[in-house]
Amino acid sequence: MNTAESRINTVGLVLVSHSRALALATETLIRQVTGSDVRLAIAAGAGDEGADLGTDALQILAAIESLDNPMGTLVLMDMGSALLSTETALGLLPESVRARVLMSSGPFVEGAMTAALAASGGASLAEVQQEAENGLRMKQQQLAPDNITAEKNRQIPAATPKHQRSLHLSDPAGLHLRPAAALAKLALARSTPSFIAAAKHPDNRVSASSLTAILGLDLRQGDEIYLQTSGPDADAFLDRAAACLQENQHPPAKIPTPVENEATKHPQGAAPGFAQGPLIIRDGLVTTVPRSYCDDCAKALHKFLEAIAEVRRQLSDHPILEAQNVLLSDPALLEKTTTLIQNEHLDAASAWAQSISQAASQIDALSDPILRARAADLRDLGNRVLQALGVTADSQPWQGPPAILLVNELLPSVALRLNPKQVLGVIDRHGSANSHAAILLRGSGIPYVINADPVVFANTQYVAMDGKTGELWPDPDAQILVTLHDRERMHQDQNSAGSYGQITLNDGSTLELWANVASTAEAAAARRLGATGIGLLRTEFFFLDQKTLPDEESQCQSLRQVMAPMQGLPIVVRALDAGADKPLSFIPIGTEANPALGRRGLRALLAYPDIFALQLRAMLRAGQDHDLHIMLPMVTNPEELRSARMILDQAHRELEAAGHPHRWPVPFGIMAEVPAVALCMKQFNGLTDFVSIGSNDLTQYTLASDRSNALLQTLGNAAHPAVLELCRKMVQDSHAPVSICGEAAGDPQIAPLLVDCGIRRLSMAPPRLSNMYTRVSGT
Ligand code: PEP
Ligand code: MG
Repeated sequence: MNTAESRINTVGLVLVSHSRALALATETLIRQVTGSDVRLAIAAGAGDEGADLGTDALQILAAIESLDNPMGTLVLMDMGSALLSTETALGLLPESVRARVLMSSGPFVEGAMTAALAASGGASLAEVQQEAENGLRMKQQQLAPDNITAEKNRQIPAATPKHQRSLHLSDPAGLHLRPAAALAKLALARSTPSFIAAAKHPDNRVSASSLTAILGLDLRQGDEIYLQTSGPDADAFLDRAAACLQENQHPPAKIPTPVENEATKHPQGAAPGFAQGPLIIRDGLVTTVPRSYCDDCAKALHKFLEAIAEVRRQLSDHPILEAQNVLLSDPALLEKTTTLIQNEHLDAASAWAQSISQAASQIDALSDPILRARAADLRDLGNRVLQALGVTADSQPWQGPPAILLVNELLPSVALRLNPKQVLGVIDRHGSANSHAAILLRGSGIPYVINADPVVFANTQYVAMDGKTGELWPDPDAQILVTLHDRERMHQDQNSAGSYGQITLNDGSTLELWANVASTAEAAAARRLGATGIGLLRTEFFFLDQKTLPDEESQCQSLRQVMAPMQGLPIVVRALDAGADKPLSFIPIGTEANPALGRRGLRALLAYPDIFALQLRAMLRAGQDHDLHIMLPMVTNPEELRSARMILDQAHRELEAAGHPHRWPVPFGIMAEVPAVALCMKQFNGLTDFVSIGSNDLTQYTLASDRSNALLQTLGNAAHPAVLELCRKMVQDSHAPVSICGEAAGDPQIAPLLVDCGIRRLSMAPPRLSNMYTRVSGT
């Protein structure tokens, strides 16, 4: 038998290490002893050429596949996440290959050496595994012969008998997400399989590494459960698993009606209006994927793995999304997707979407409403991976009959696509009144309550809500519905046609009320309510769901449509404010550790001057017959304004040269959102034609308080003296008119304080105009 033949007929070894140097040195050591008679592959290190410490499931998968060994393959790992990565890689192997791959619990260097010796001698996979596990034996015998003898005499369970622990679930919420995720994480970190079952259905035991499978058991308070595993660390594992199930108890549910204002969960109105209707838990708003096929399974699998790796990177920045991270390693989900790719030749997106929706519908079918709500995490995760696979979200996130949606942090890109005819209201478990999602819902008139406690909706089929006060009534009685009906009528009266654009104050000055809009419907409402003008036309909302940059003509058309109802009145159009929570795929800002302080607004526009110039040309053309003003977002220094003005002048020259009719000259102004602008306002005198205070961002930057963080809502208040002081200073220092278009301008509590600072132009969502008019008139 020549060497090549002998190598083909030996068990293969894969060395998985955090350190490439360690793996290479181990290989050298082995080869010096066994010669070339061993089939060996390395998956070690992370980053470029494995220079960083770490392990990577894709590398491990490739290493196992490179051996392609009918005799089987043993994987030796060094420690920690090496096991997790290997489990993941194994979950992605075709069943036929996976059946011939074993993980070794032996020591890395010694185990690899003894395994290699056994393999090169022609041992079977089971024998090689046994040898690897015995790798320390010689050392142990020499150093502690008594221990090893005692060990020998002890009844070491063979691989099959299991260690078992039984425990009762005392948590009123049953086995809910947190403990289930903690258990799956523990189980995933081991190479020996472990299982969980309900005592009442002992045959239905599932892998403890699979979060979806655990949740699928629908374990309830009072159920007895079994945990089973084997291996030398079985008892330690069972101790830890039992402890983590006990520790992660859910606080007992309280179901107040209407919802109490608790310190931690304080539902808040974020978009006024009343709604009642069936409640739909719709956290993930899962993207639909048309079923499509791909003949190149390896390519599809690779694409899928890359998407998983990308999402894992994204989630690692969000400890709060820990459960999603565990779901991402769920062997049941990964296996299902891999099987669909390999056996049914589905492409990566179709296979993943099918696995997710099956798993989510299993959870939907559970009797426990709290567990049922977990389907949302799955769908949300599903969407993240689909996005990483390049699938764009549906144009209509909710297609069913009119309903109120319960969501888990509404994204602006989703808010944008909600149709008020189908979505009567939105209740958000998280959210913030200053988020762009809230701004969009206020504009489209969809009532929105944030920071709601999902436990309240445990058994709710129908809900009523007041988006102004934040009150929520699960399954309201007739009396509540009558009260709501009256409130609704008053609200509608306030929003029928009116003339709410100007108020004469007691000092004789005029306070102007302007409108913030992002759609034609909002512009029409602004006209109907008599707004003085449009103080902020947010253009980025046109593009949130676009994958590519719309051309000049289509941008021009979109702008014309929105501006049309306000013909003859001043219209302030803001240049794209991309970045932070409004990422646009055609402005590739890249990953930033802190996007709110990154390349957003004008910074991004100056980084992509062609995109900026194209938008300016579209604005100038669309504004030909309008009193057009152009405004820049997130300005920090006068220099940026100078650069922007040069691009604007150039846009005008290009249109002129091309013979396109357009508006010229146009007032060109800045948003004051960065405290530096407020403090150095005098430097902008002579450069800017107007100033509009973006109090949403000015507040978050002044108070170092993330505007989208629901827990910082009290802190991030525009009525803080520091913010008001900056506003007052800008009014004093600016030669150009100063208005305000942040949400504070439409807040009846804060607006009078802004008026006290000398501001005489407030721009707000149209539904707030009449209320503001009533509130401020006569002050
Ligand atoms: C603001 O920051 O106040 C503002 C109006 O801009 P946006 O909310 O769009 O960031
Ligand atoms: Mg802003």
